[in-house]
Amino acid sequence: MDDITLSVIVPVYNEEEGLEPCIGHLAGVLEAGGESYEIILVDDGSSDRTPEIAEQMCSRDKRVKLIGLSRNFGHQAAITAGMELCTGNCVVVIDSDMQDPPELIPEMVRIWREGFDVVYGLRKRRLGETALKKLTASVFYRVLGAITEIDIPRDTGDFRLLDRKVCEAMKALPERGRYVRGLVSWVGFRQTALEYVRHERKVGKTKYNLKKMLRLAGNGLLSFSKVPLTAPLGIGAVVSLAALAALIVMLCLPVFYSWAAAVSIVTFFIGIGISCIGIVGCYLGRVLDQAQGRPEYIIARKINI
Ligand code: UDP
Ligand code: MG
Repeated sequence: MDDITLSVIVPVYNEEEGLEPCIGHLAGVLEAGGESYEIILVDDGSSDRTPEIAEQMCSRDKRVKLIGLSRNFGHQAAITAGMELCTGNCVVVIDSDMQDPPELIPEMVRIWREGFDVVYGLRKRRLGETALKKLTASVFYRVLGAITEIDIPRDTGDFRLLDRKVCEAMKALPERGRYVRGLVSWVGFRQTALEYVRHERKVGKTKYNLKKMLRLAGNGLLSFSKVPLTAPLGIGAVVSLAALAALIVMLCLPVFYSWAAAVSIVTFFIGIGISCIGIVGCYLGRVLDQAQGRPEYIIARKINI
């Protein structure tokens, strides 16, 4: 069997209205790009006609492949399943609604051939999305950027190209509740952005309801930041020090207010209590590190070894 250059992973959930035209469009673009390719549809437990339509497409063209999950595990799990089973030298992840233009894929491949290991789509503009969605996304990416140790590019989705070695590094990470775009940043290698305008959804409705969006945001924040765990250490220390300073000032005053002194002493101990929560958080953070099982480092290359 010939080596496949390009594996395109497409997570799908209840997309019966648009699947056929969208995948047809994608296949047309890939065909014109001239690379050998496979399209891996990952059916994330759809309850509509999506699996039948996908099966028909597979029987018409062997380059279209299907992985069916046993139930709805979520977008990120579906992408992970695709990465597990794809075989291409580079891997592209794209949503099935083609809101991210597949026309960019040949350009991503060209940049990959120049030596980049990750080419991620950077949304310059998002068309057809509500102001609320754009605002919450923008606030989320900024908060995430402020409290994470690694640099997760803002305004990016999962539309990106990964070199095979990046895909292998991702597969070696055992962690659950995956925030795929964060993990791609975490694994490192040579990464670059490709700016684009995200189109509106042409068919069907978004499959990301509020619950799914909150879960994704929660996974992003909790798996890449220990600030919520450790922040009480600093907050408690500030509270205690402020109470102590107030008490010292009070002792220097000519009149002694016993009630104010009592409040300061109680506040001092409340601060100690808050700090203790932060100390527990520090240890819990280390337990989290062990549980996530991310390696200490990833080697990108070796010379004369
Ligand atoms: N999707 C999925 N599982 C889910 C929700 C969504 O596989 O539980 C797929 C969906 O079919 C689409 C992609 O993930 O291909 C992105 O979803 P959607 O377009 O609804 O998200 P939005 O663009 O509105 O953020
Ligand atoms: Mg979409």
